[in-house]
Amino acid sequence: MHSKLVIIGSGPAGHTAAIYASRADLHPVMYEGFLALGIAAGGQLTTTDEVENYPGFTKIQGATLMDNMRAQSEACGTTIVSQTVGKVDLSERPFKYWIHPMGDDDNLEEEVHTADSLIIATGAKARRLDLKGEDKFWGNGVSACAVCDGSLPIFREKPLIVIGGGDSAVEEGIYLTKKAAKVTVLVRKGFLRASKANARRLMEHPKVEVRFNSEGLEIKGDEGPRGLMKSMVIKNNKTGKVEEIPANGLFYAVGHDPATALFKGQVDMDEDGYIKTIPGTAETTVAGVFAAGDVQDKKYRQAVTSAGTGCMAALEAEKWLLEQSDEDTADADHDVRKGSDKANGDVPEYRSNPLLGASSKV
Ligand code: FAD
Ligand code: NAP
Repeated sequence: MHSKLVIIGSGPAGHTAAIYASRADLHPVMYEGFLALGIAAGGQLTTTDEVENYPGFTKIQGATLMDNMRAQSEACGTTIVSQTVGKVDLSERPFKYWIHPMGDDDNLEEEVHTADSLIIATGAKARRLDLKGEDKFWGNGVSACAVCDGSLPIFREKPLIVIGGGDSAVEEGIYLTKKAAKVTVLVRKGFLRASKANARRLMEHPKVEVRFNSEGLEIKGDEGPRGLMKSMVIKNNKTGKVEEIPANGLFYAVGHDPATALFKGQVDMDEDGYIKTIPGTAETTVAGVFAAGDVQDKKYRQAVTSAGTGCMAALEAEKWLLEQSDEDTADADHDVRKGSDKANGDVPEYRSNPLLGASSKV
């Protein structure tokens, strides 16, 4: 399949890009992922409970917000494919890419697809800490998503631990208090990185104990293959004191890594793997490839900023594609003057977007 514009990723950045690109008649094709990186199509917001800072919604479930965005993308004309892109070749145009059948990481489909332009909106993935016992108790007490797993019976009325000091740690911690007996939040520094409002909510919550300068060392529990987590060994990194506290669940909220492995060596990235964009734009170091959302933003990482950069990426892709067709038309005009039959190329479509630069001839 060949497309004018392909969008990889289905969070707020991907869907906003899709809405703008569809309305500009670019007929975008979005790969929303089939549990890409273990995240449902719709991205990180599908793993949270209520979103209260997306303009237009005083309060909305993260999954509902993403369902709405998906419906809007489709209504505008985006073709959404529920598969994961597993390989790309950005070395020449049209760009090439291959997909995983059913999200299988090992086997790529043989068919090669091509695109004139690409928007990378693959987002980010939750980090794990590789603590002793983590693998054994993963899924049996240890999780990286309170909203996904926090309601499981094994956590009800039990003491739980959250590691992290950012907004996710606060939200996960408070979410868990709905069912847990107590939530202990381990913060490795002496302060919370979360917003002031969030930090206050956490500190004032009667079911929450925040332990500063504290780190997890080991997860312990029942022996045997399906044994459940029962406690955790923690350490105060200021005093050196080590203790074992009861805990039937551990939820990581220690940040995210950008989902950029697919593009390594093909577009420039910073030392943490975030895709570099030209400041104030969504342009990457490869002409015709744009990046939007958390994949290129280590500072704000919000739904609304992701949506904003998704909009930028689509407008820039539209302008870039038009410039390409202008160049083709210029070649054709030259051919007309030479009396060539190659002159009967497509007439560039009318573009009403005032942001399209002066280079546009239409
Ligand atoms: P993501 O949301 O990360 O989505 C990317 C999508 O692309 C994923 O579905 C992924 O599966 C898919 N994908 C990845 N690779 C591929 C591939 N190769 N092929 C196909 N698909 C692929 N922000 C707020 O503004 N307000 C909040 O209240 C808020 N709460 C949050 C709560 C939690 C628990 C978390 C983790 C984050 C929260 N955020 C919040 C941050 C917000 O979710 C992110 O900033 C935003 O979702 C980033 O959007 P994105 O479009 O860049 O990508
Ligand atoms: P984050 O802001 O990067 O915070 C990660 C936390 O984990 C930090 O406190 C960090 O500690 C800690 N950490 C990292 N590695 C660790 C380790 N090895 N051991 C112990 N602790 C470790 O990530 P986030 O909380 O997921 O938030 C990501 C973005 O989404 C942010 O921009 C945030 O504002 C946004 N978000 C917003 C909302 C909201 O607006 N309601 C909700 C959730 C997320 P240090 O502080 O010591 O580095």
